[in-house]
Amino acid sequence: MIVMKFGGTSVGDAARVHQVATIIEAQPSPRAAVVSAASGVTNMLLDAARAAAVDGGELVARLVAGIRARHHDIATAIGDDQERATAVAALDQLHAALDDALSDVDRAGELSPCNADRIVATGEKAMSILLAAILRSRGVPAVHIWADRVIATDNRYGNARPDRALTRELADEEVRPHLDAGQTVVFTGFIGRAPDGSTTTLGRGGSDYSATLLGAALDAGEVQIWTDVPGVLSADPQQVPDVRVVSGISYDEAQELAHFGAKVLHPRTIRPAVSLGIPVRILSTFLPDEPGTLVTRDAPEESVKAVTALNNLLLLTIDVPELEDLAAASAAVFGALHDDRMEVVAASQASSRRRMTYVVDATGHGGCARVKQRMAAALEAADVDAEVGCEEDVALVAAVGAGVAAAPQTLSQLLSVLGRAGVPVLATNQQHSNVALTVAVPGRDATRAVLALHDAFIRPQPASSRSRRPRRSDMLAESLRVG
Ligand code: ADP
Ligand code: ASP
Ligand code: MG
Repeated sequence: MIVMKFGGTSVGDAARVHQVATIIEAQPSPRAAVVSAASGVTNMLLDAARAAAVDGGELVARLVAGIRARHHDIATAIGDDQERATAVAALDQLHAALDDALSDVDRAGELSPCNADRIVATGEKAMSILLAAILRSRGVPAVHIWADRVIATDNRYGNARPDRALTRELADEEVRPHLDAGQTVVFTGFIGRAPDGSTTTLGRGGSDYSATLLGAALDAGEVQIWTDVPGVLSADPQQVPDVRVVSGISYDEAQELAHFGAKVLHPRTIRPAVSLGIPVRILSTFLPDEPGTLVTRDAPEESVKAVTALNNLLLLTIDVPELEDLAAASAAVFGALHDDRMEVVAASQASSRRRMTYVVDATGHGGCARVKQRMAAALEAADVDAEVGCEEDVALVAAVGAGVAAAPQTLSQLLSVLGRAGVPVLATNQQHSNVALTVAVPGRDATRAVLALHDAFIRPQPASSRSRRPRRSDMLAESLRVG
């Protein structure tokens, strides 16, 4: 079976949803389609939820009206009258539940993470109703299923972790019978189910992850991520004008790219595919005939396939005096980072200076002042005498490609390219992955670093392949124009 996932831009309006239906119909059954909310709707829902907490009644009403209008506009494209009436009734029920949830937040005067997830799930739920109705009105047997009955997670609202074994059982009960009956299953991305049955979300951009979780639960033969670019590109097209499509990439490389900020894949997307060896393809709904990118266990080796940057990080340094226990200091710092659920993006140790460096995603943890205080307290509690330093607005820039870390000359080339571009390097890390070289740079220099490295390491597309296929710049221009 095939799982196809369609992102927000791909289901942004009625015409786009019909285009998605055309793509689905071209795939063999059994098949499931995982959908995101229409582009912009998740942000509107979050804004409404936050406004409800601070008594922003007028803003809430305006946002909710905008969300309803987006969904009702798409509903007008449901060709069959009966299907349209049923879908509109289901949407009305969903929007009424949204009003109830927003009233709860208003009454409480605060937005709990649980209520935030319950509210934000509305976008994906609405889209699943709409796409299933559009498919049926085109003569394709289809059913929508909400993932808060299927994707089992813990209760970390906003960034929930899945329970893969339980998800498998639930998918067997809730999804497989529909596939066996020849129905196309339209499944909500992004959302899951906490142990108490409440709705969770998998983190922003999490629908990609939903697709591989569902694919792994159903032993899919392939997972396809349909988006607004023609595959994984050699850099973010918003940062670098002359990017190329990466045709083949390994699971390891794709994971590193996603981990270090390439928005095309949610950072955890690839994990469920790895254990079962499920191929993942990234394709464009705007250019559906393009081959896209194939992610598999092994992929053609090239030195550097893509360059990426992850922004808004903190660089935490711990200087440990000569006589102190380095391991105890490490344990105290890692313990505190773990307890506070701060993500460590990279860690290294320069033993000569007994300095440990951590690049940390501390979004929502109050910046350096609070993080420094927290680490100092943890070190003191462990009876370790160490000095804590912290720098804000740091970016990690990664050059990704199998073998880069193994080739010592790549690191020196990378440093000299950055030197020539006038980008200060705050830290480097060569060992922590076999497929990426990373450098920490000041956030304001990240784009310049990515441009310089892309220029130096990514070879232009060979002339022969350019004449056979549309130029990537034309392809991108087309995607952006249509999008
Ligand atoms: P969707 O709504 O389909 O999930 P996203 O907006 O989440 O789409 O992800 C696709 C976007 O990711 C692209 O439009 C592009 O701007 C951005 N992007 C960043 N880095 C890369 C990259 N290396 N390759 C492809 N796209 C990238
Ligand atoms: N709609 C969600 C978001 O905007 C999930 C997704 O798009 O993947 O984050
Ligand atoms: Mg996305």
